Amino acid sequence: MGDAELVIVGAGPAGLCAAWEGRKRGWEPIILERRSVVGGAWAEMPPKMRCLSPRKYDRMPDGSVSSGDGNRATVAEILTMIEAFAAKNQFRICMESSAQAVSVQNGMFEIETTRQLLRTPRLIIATGEYSRPRVPSVPGDFDGPTEHTRTFDPNTVTASERVAVIGAGNSGAEAVLAILARGGQVVLSTRYPLAGPPIDFSETVLAPLAAWYAGLPVRWLPGRGGCQVKTPLVYGELKRGVQAGQIELVGALGELQARGFRTSSGQDVDVDRIVWATGYRRETTWL
Ligand SMILES: Cc1cc2nc3c(=O)[nH]c(=O)nc-3n(C[C@H](O)[C@H](O)[C@H](O)COP(=O)(O)OP(=O)(O)OC[C@H]3O[C@@H](n4cnc5c(N)ncnc54)[C@H](O)[C@@H]3O)c2cc1C
Repeated sequence: MGDAELVIVGAGPAGLCAAWEGRKRGWEPIILERRSVVGGAWAEMPPKMRCLSPRKYDRMPDGSVSSGDGNRATVAEILTMIEAFAAKNQFRICMESSAQAVSVQNGMFEIETTRQLLRTPRLIIATGEYSRPRVPSVPGDFDGPTEHTRTFDPNTVTASERVAVIGAGNSGAEAVLAILARGGQVVLSTRYPLAGPPIDFSETVLAPLAAWYAGLPVRWLPGRGGCQVKTPLVYGELKRGVQAGQIELVGALGELQARGFRTSSGQDVDVDRIVWATGYRRETTWL
């Protein structure tokens, strides 16, 4: 059994920031990370995807920001910033060490990990909300390939391939635009009317306004800017693509079929491939 002044579970951005704060208070942290990399969700997202938040807000507690072009950083740029922060601070990170259970014994936390038992008076759980891709369970079977946006590589799309993207949030918007750029055809399945921003922020002249909009806490936006989803959709191109007939918009997916799917309103849609842009769920079932 090992003792530590502070144990942090998770080497994503929250865990690393907590380690920094703990050390500032004089507690040397041990970080447990179930995988073999730091960066948490950022290490698994498509590297070229751009953040919703403006670059200047995505910084580490020592003030470091990502470097690169554009107002919104790419996932790869954010990950580089996080990795540099972890390396510079030389935190003790136990890789491939997954916390399995926590109990309290004589006023100390006992953390069972896949490698050891740790005791500490201070424990921070920083295991994230966006850890596991969420794919809804729907009846039926599709004969073609399916994948979640976390692993979807648009470079594998061939010209004129017909791809269904399920979900019209920001991940879905990213996937749709990447497929169109590859010359593929897109069918976009959505439960809600498209939740675009009131103004098309993709225009360069409106970039400062986009930064302001994306930087506002969503709850401050009157009626969430007309959005019916949790986060404002920052891709005006999506609406334009639908209006221009480049994107075929269909209703919610009801059941899978061998050659595609049937929407909940009974429309049959044939496609070559299905990409789930249906979000994420929490990892920590043991808490
Ligand atoms: C598609 C997508 C787009 C996003 N866009 C933005 C954006 O534009 N701007 C923004 O600010 N945020 C964005 N986010 C959110 C951002 O990624 C998360 O808020 C951030 O990564 C949360 O950091 P975290 O450290 O709390 O959790 P995570 O990054 O999820 O890190 C948790 C870590 O804990 C580890 N872990 C989990 N369970 C255990 C265990 N039992 N034992 C040991 N380790 C464990 C995991 O392996 C992981 O490394 C986005 C997220 C997604 C999925």
